[in-house]
Amino acid sequence: MYRVLISCLLFSATLMAQEPLEVVTLPVQVHRVRSELHPWLECAITESEIQAVFAEVNRIWAPAGIRFEVKGIREMQALNIAPKRFFQRSRNWVKEALPMDQLVAGVLNVCFIHDMGPNGFYYGEPAVVSEVTTSRSVRGGSEHPVGRVAAHELGHALTLKHREDRKCLMAPGLRGTELNKEEIQAARQRAVQIKRSSQF
Ligand SMILES: [Zn+2]
Repeated sequence: MYRVLISCLLFSATLMAQEPLEVVTLPVQVHRVRSELHPWLECAITESEIQAVFAEVNRIWAPAGIRFEVKGIREMQALNIAPKRFFQRSRNWVKEALPMDQLVAGVLNVCFIHDMGPNGFYYGEPAVVSEVTTSRSVRGGSEHPVGRVAAHELGHALTLKHREDRKCLMAPGLRGTELNKEEIQAARQRAVQIKRSSQF
């Protein structure tokens, strides 16, 4: 009798553990960076390619119950500043060239540029993603490199740090997509905060 009861309890605990998480949907504003002066900034990504990027982002983030919803796609004219260093493909210079007053409040801002040293970066808004990426594939990883970069940078936006494990989303320079329990918990906590402060 007890044995039956215990196995029933274990069974329902397993079922509970597998219950899908309540989905938190976060609004995203996409900016396509334009620049006549700096060809590295001038991106060519189309609206349908951006939708494909976010389809991959949402596939990767589905196990965490987090969805990113593109609320708008607009052009962003880069500032005509001269790079400080001869080596222009630096994320600091790229960030300086982005007009911060064009970011949209209460959403996650994602800027697409053409090419730079890293595939993307996030150290405070906005997340920046390069349409030309050079990440290495891993078994079972993403087959959409730009989508994987965007998913990784949005992971930083949700407080996640790098984790050196080939298969995981937060490993830099690779195409793994896995998130562990701690990462899912931390990302969801931040996602709920963002959602509360957003007007969407
Ligand atoms: Zn990173």
